[in-house]
Amino acid sequence: MIIRHLLLIFWATIGTCFSQSSFQVGIAKINITPKSPAFLTGYANRDKPAEGVVHDLWAKAIVVTNKKEKVIIVTTDLLGLSHQVSTEVAQKIQEKLGIERRQLMFNSSHTHSGPMIWPSLSVIANYSYEEQKIVSEYTQVLIDKLVEVISHAYAQQVPMQVAIGKTSANFAINRRALAARKNGILLADPIDHEVPVLTCKNASGEIKAVLFGYACHNTTVTGNNYLINGDYAGFAQIDIEKQIPNATAFFILGCAGDQNPEPRGTVELAQQHGNTLAKQVIHLAFSGEMKSISNDIQSDFTTINLRFKKVRAADYQKDLQSTDKFIQRRAKLMLEAYNKGWNTDHYNYPVQGIRLGREFRIIALGGEVVVDYSLRTKEDFPNKNIFVAGYSNEVMCYIPSERVLKEGGYEAESSMIYYGMPGPFETGIEEKIMKAIHQIVKNIN
Ligand SMILES: [Zn+2]
Repeated sequence: MIIRHLLLIFWATIGTCFSQSSFQVGIAKINITPKSPAFLTGYANRDKPAEGVVHDLWAKAIVVTNKKEKVIIVTTDLLGLSHQVSTEVAQKIQEKLGIERRQLMFNSSHTHSGPMIWPSLSVIANYSYEEQKIVSEYTQVLIDKLVEVISHAYAQQVPMQVAIGKTSANFAINRRALAARKNGILLADPIDHEVPVLTCKNASGEIKAVLFGYACHNTTVTGNNYLINGDYAGFAQIDIEKQIPNATAFFILGCAGDQNPEPRGTVELAQQHGNTLAKQVIHLAFSGEMKSISNDIQSDFTTINLRFKKVRAADYQKDLQSTDKFIQRRAKLMLEAYNKGWNTDHYNYPVQGIRLGREFRIIALGGEVVVDYSLRTKEDFPNKNIFVAGYSNEVMCYIPSERVLKEGGYEAESSMIYYGMPGPFETGIEEKIMKAIHQIVKNIN
């Protein structure tokens, strides 16, 4: 009898501890693999539809709430969401669930073996009417599915404990440094191998969600591949879900703008990198080194004005005569915008901050952010545990640091053509973004 009483007290105490420190967490996933025929995006050389599927692509949503606040993170096995897609989903979710823009974060894994999202990276595509229809329809279906998966996660909330930890991976290299070494010149080669891990456990101690991030392009599989897959991040998530059977794995891409996986070139190598990453994450998740976070949530969202270098209409007129079809298409796009009086001098760039507990912060930046932003943020805030995610909310183009902008090359200049952007950004971009990051960290403190 006494033992029974003691047991009851023991369970009651555990129950109280659990509910005091626990959040309400809802988790859902939805299959976003496109129907055939599908057009892949990420490499400009592709000239035919996808030829098969290695594994399915997913959109996943996790809702974390406490009595005062809530935050929703949505991850997708896609190259990146366009401004139109994330804005429309956010508006629908605000109407449906009352979620504010600051409370909703999107991130894309940037797999280069996923479907084209319109109108992102439209300059690399030259579709027929029928093909364009397929791409536009997929984009509409995606919007509906994102609303569905968020709503589903929102409706599924149960008490869970959230814990965080940190491990690392080692297959990212700074591709600008690698290219430079090949040409015999050595540039700086910044890299960020940190892998943050966040787990959610239900009342029975079962892991239901694993969030993890890494700063490395999902370009293990190259442009000669026509099979749909999520690259290393897709394989890593599948691996984690296989080994922790009732868990959903969420990959968040870091500042991978200038980071490539090495070696690369085949689906097998993508699987190999995925397995390496999954192994690290799983090991940490069960190591006893994960630390529960306090019951506190905060978020903020802002847009800042990033200016492009001035280009005259006459220069685009000249570009119309270029033998490069991508330069021609960009010029056509810009002249149309000029003629209609649309803005071509700046971009409204999204910067978001999320704080989970007192112990973990995510700075979510739009676009293909180079690694300098992650390293500098960590340097500026040595006492705050911050993961800087790129590819968040929308992927409009590369976001170079001042160093990369000065060096020039793909991420600073030529990639802007493929993204249909007016031209390179003006100097001062890094200070503007860092200033916004500092303000957001202060606001969510
Ligand atoms: Zn990229």
